[in-house]
Amino acid sequence: MKVLVVGGAGYIGSHMVKMLNKAGHDVITLDNLSNGYKDAVKYGEFVEGDIADESLLDKLFSDNNFDGVMHFASYIQVGESVEKPSMYYRNNVSNTQVLLDAMVDHGVKSFIFSSTAATFGEPDYTPIDEAHSQKPINPYGHSKLMVEQILRDFDHAYGLKSVSLRYFNAAGADPDGELGERHIPETHLIPLVLQAASGRRDNITIFGADYDTPDGTCIRDYIHINDLCSAHLLGLEHLVAGGETKAYNMGNGLGYSIKELIDIAKEVTGKDFTVLMGERRDGDPARLVADSSLLQKELGWKPEFAGLDVILRHAWEWELKYSEWG
Ligand code: UDP
Repeated sequence: MKVLVVGGAGYIGSHMVKMLNKAGHDVITLDNLSNGYKDAVKYGEFVEGDIADESLLDKLFSDNNFDGVMHFASYIQVGESVEKPSMYYRNNVSNTQVLLDAMVDHGVKSFIFSSTAATFGEPDYTPIDEAHSQKPINPYGHSKLMVEQILRDFDHAYGLKSVSLRYFNAAGADPDGELGERHIPETHLIPLVLQAASGRRDNITIFGADYDTPDGTCIRDYIHINDLCSAHLLGLEHLVAGGETKAYNMGNGLGYSIKELIDIAKEVTGKDFTVLMGERRDGDPARLVADSSLLQKELGWKPEFAGLDVILRHAWEWELKYSEWG
């Protein structure tokens, strides 16, 4: 297949580009480098540019006969989305629509979309399945849910087929050690914990220990980046084979509290580090765990690196490497 990966220079996109290449597919990355790194695009062709640039998209789609498009070029910080909703709706919704319009104009019919557990808002129950109501509690979640709606309407009107994958907590790194997470600023728990372990940070602060969970800290479902990418590949194969538009929840179905995660990180790294107790962060549900049985049943997805120890080990190998030159 020939695949356009939008946002292929970012954390998830760069792993996806590698997986597509290793599976024998032809990949072009389009990325404006606002949050990505050119040197993270280790495979295929790289085009620097923005999905809002209609003439660039027109040229790309005219020059290449894409079987499908995968879209990773979104803003992802919940807090920032509350402060700057315009930026989030512009990029995550309006600019995505420019991309979808170009696909429709050029007859490209298969689209894989990075959606999020944040489309569910405060869960009524866990694990969260696809039947759970979607009531986002921040502009980030709203922006992703709006695109899910646009995709249903584009299927109905234009026959554009899509698979939306609602990520829970994407984590870990390339098992080969070639790629990993490089967010600036870093806000995610696992890289911050590992930076405390490697000495790049003095400590890690737990945001709230008074939640309604067994140890009082938030519970999340961490999914290995390669398992996440393999679901994208299955999604694209499903669409190219004539499959219907779908939306799936994607996690391991295993919930770990922040305290549990820190204990496992100390074991995996062999390092002790300072853990501070802080205030709750706004907008954090106590427990987010995915029910991914539909994805497993319908697309045959099977996580290969489900254990949090493996996820942390791969992320730690990357942290050790990256802390030397990052
Ligand atoms: N968290 C924390 N300290 C940090 C960063 C995150 O305690 O320095 C918590 C955060 O409040 C949440 C969990 O760790 O309960 C996972 O946060 P992350 O930002 O990694 O992912 P999210 O669940 O927000 O997508």
